[in-house]
Amino acid sequence: MNRTILTAVGAAVGAVMLVAPSQAQQKFVSIGTGGVTGVYYPTGGAICRLVNKNRKEHGIRCSAESTGGSIYNINTIRSGELEFGVAQSDWQYHAYHGTSKFKDAGKFEKLRAVFSVHPEPVTVIAHDDSGVKTLADVKGKRLNIGNPGSGTRGTWEVLEAALGWTRGDLKLASEMKSAETGQAICDGKIDAYFWLVGHPSALTQESLATCASHLVHVTGPEIDKLVADKSYYRKATIPAGMYNNKEDINTFGVGATFVTSADVPDEVVYVVVKAVFENFDAFRKLHPAFAHLSEKEMISDGLSAPLHPGALKYYKEKGWK
Ligand code: GLU
Repeated sequence: MNRTILTAVGAAVGAVMLVAPSQAQQKFVSIGTGGVTGVYYPTGGAICRLVNKNRKEHGIRCSAESTGGSIYNINTIRSGELEFGVAQSDWQYHAYHGTSKFKDAGKFEKLRAVFSVHPEPVTVIAHDDSGVKTLADVKGKRLNIGNPGSGTRGTWEVLEAALGWTRGDLKLASEMKSAETGQAICDGKIDAYFWLVGHPSALTQESLATCASHLVHVTGPEIDKLVADKSYYRKATIPAGMYNNKEDINTFGVGATFVTSADVPDEVVYVVVKAVFENFDAFRKLHPAFAHLSEKEMISDGLSAPLHPGALKYYKEKGWK
């Protein structure tokens, strides 16, 4: 190497060190969420907001991305393109154990749980003109079953099998993303849509308030059996008065969980967890679906993958584990 090149390299290294020490140390983390009118997207936004508040101290810059939902998020964490994601507890379970939709990909052994968030009841919204009053009435109708990659779609497939239905039992099985379904039901393009979401959620609110539609009970012997057989399902209700419903809506559901990979450094996960729990009252106020969250439940419920050591460190410091 001649002298000129050496000098140039030296100057470049010097310049980098002079102008960008903090940028060089800054870490970017992304959270995969869901559609913008769901609850995952504001959940990711709430977490990032609290992380970014102390960005100058810890050097981590967090951003929330709108995505196709739970299964997409888990797969994208697995490929290393996302550091964190929000995912339904049933799909966290299957990804870690390599079962159901994750059978072909095999166990995602590096999947790590961080905490759980809000409950996600199975939610069916039907147009008043559709004649759909019960889950059984959905047969022969036009139903949005969720986009591929959503947890919604995965759980529909489980429910469909439990009911003994095939795709042909629906007149139309549309695959729109959640953000498109509100317009579709109001325009009469579908009779109902199915999704798993926290409540209240913007999309559910918008549909029930802007077109003649109602929530449907999701009950029956097949549901009782699913809940009895699978630890990640539980009975759930959407309380009377939450939207235009005068009575409690009985259904079943899962929990939203926050997950990462064992490859994400402990100090990064620690900073994210600390940002949420040190500002817990502020966090709970960032979305109405967080109103009933408690620290105790968040660090234990619905977590089937092992806790990430960075999260565990914080929980131990607090005396919670
Ligand atoms: N549970 C949904 C899914 O994984 C997403 C719900 C939301 O966007 O809040 O598909």
